Amino acid sequence: MDNIKEIINQAGEFIANTDYNKIKELKGIQMFDAPIIGIAAADDPLFLKLKDKEVIGDGHMTPLEWMPQAKAVISYFLPFTEAVRKANRENKDLPAIEWLYGRVEGEIANKELAKFLVKKVVDMGGEAIIPGLDSRFVSGNYKSNWSERHVAFISGLGTFGLSKSMITEKGAAGRLGSIIVSIPFEATERKYEGVYDYCSQCGACINRCPAQAIDKLGKKHEPCDDFLTNVTKKRFAPRYGCGKCQTAVPCEYRIPVIRKEGHKE
Ligand code: SF4
Ligand code: SF4
Repeated sequence: MDNIKEIINQAGEFIANTDYNKIKELKGIQMFDAPIIGIAAADDPLFLKLKDKEVIGDGHMTPLEWMPQAKAVISYFLPFTEAVRKANRENKDLPAIEWLYGRVEGEIANKELAKFLVKKVVDMGGEAIIPGLDSRFVSGNYKSNWSERHVAFISGLGTFGLSKSMITEKGAAGRLGSIIVSIPFEATERKYEGVYDYCSQCGACINRCPAQAIDKLGKKHEPCDDFLTNVTKKRFAPRYGCGKCQTAVPCEYRIPVIRKEGHKE
């Protein structure tokens, strides 16, 4: 649909030009490249599946619960630039300053992009909300009532990795966001079936993690959170972050394996 192509182009221009995407303290380097965008139908049955207690739980709200007139969800992945990713490949123990800005100021840029997209949808005559900025949004105990990663999976953007990062065609190093809209944009085809299809299970993220939070069974949230809060935030407040499991790994900026075609890079 032409409307969605227009939105995708404008989202790319917004990220290319906005000062929110520049770190002025670091010579104005850009944090993100242009976003990739996926669309889900608001009534996709997978949104109900997220309510299963073995997935997220009953508290996870469907698009229609957020907005009864919802017709689609626009989910996007903002890939970190090479400058941010390269910096964070160094030093196994602590995050790069570029990454810390990308995690904190980058999240502000992310939310500005969501607001920009809402405005574009409204300009087209539709309605839109940003669940992550809605007064009903709640998170805690490593869960929320709108999981950007699960929404990205449903929207065709990618699958989970062993590190619980979302692996997209632009890799795992980046930030996710989404809006719910009343315009029935056509859903993006999901080019995968399993929730870990894009992960090669190479184990590189296990060795990268300074908190030993990842093993071959997956990621434990507590040691990761403890590292972010009690090591990086203490040292770098008001910033924090890590992302070692998303840099210097095969899924950093690409899909490391394409299982459907039996092709491994
Ligand atoms: S580093 Fe390897 S095992 Fe870890 S998430 Fe990426 S592809 Fe999967
Ligand atoms: S963000 Fe850092 S501490 Fe958390 S799982 Fe990844 S590498 Fe480990």
